[in-house]
Amino acid sequence: MISVVVVGAETPGNIGTIARAMKNFGVSDLKLVDPPELHRDGEAYGFAGQAREDILPNAEEVSFEEIVENYHTIGFTATTNEDARRHVRFPFRTPEELADDLAEIETDVALVFGRERVGLTNEELARIDQICAIPASAEYPVLNLGQAATIALYELRELTMDESQLPDVERERAIEPEIERFYERFDAMLGAVSYPEEKRAKTMRLVRRLVGRAHPTGREITTLHGVLRVIERATQERYSGR
Ligand code: SAH
Repeated sequence: MISVVVVGAETPGNIGTIARAMKNFGVSDLKLVDPPELHRDGEAYGFAGQAREDILPNAEEVSFEEIVENYHTIGFTATTNEDARRHVRFPFRTPEELADDLAEIETDVALVFGRERVGLTNEELARIDQICAIPASAEYPVLNLGQAATIALYELRELTMDESQLPDVERERAIEPEIERFYERFDAMLGAVSYPEEKRAKTMRLVRRLVGRAHPTGREITTLHGVLRVIERATQERYSGR
């Protein structure tokens, strides 16, 4: 399971933003180390959207020690100005790379975010298992705390959302026989309009590549079939001399 830990946040609004992003991407366990007071009518609840009903009120206050002891910890930091000679903030993973790493392991993971101004301290980072940094502009790599957590959770979505939560992109694609029939019909149309025979096979390969890359929806393929039907009718009429 993946949990989110926020260490020493000062701004309740950021905690609300994080709770909302968690709900958006299928994570429910929020833990807070040394949090500010969160009032029902305050900023945290105001920013949390539907997470104000469950994730935020169920957030548990914990100590940093408890987290280090019980989880595989990932520390999020904007500052990575180190190299192979110093290891507190190096080497680091991007969130995308982290998603691949975490897909391999089956242990409880805590994504640990730091304070708005000073982030996680070197002492804290030294006790954390892996470092993750969002590659932002070298001129200003520091994201807002809530937005950093949102990006991280988005990148890990395939690990945190189950089948029923993932939007089903695949189901919108036209079924394969319909696409195949389109190619046959397109090829027949080339024949009917006396397309140069020597170019026909090459053109068909090109059409196949183009449509294959586009992953057309059922409606799109149906419309293209309709267009070809009209062309078929027009060519038949023309060649039958009407
Ligand atoms: N100077 C601090 C900035 C704190 S920003 C630092 O270097 O970390 C508040 C928190 O947002 C950070 O502790 C970190 O958890 C997260 N964060 C901000 N920008 C980030 C980035 N580019 N990559 C990863 N986490 C980031």
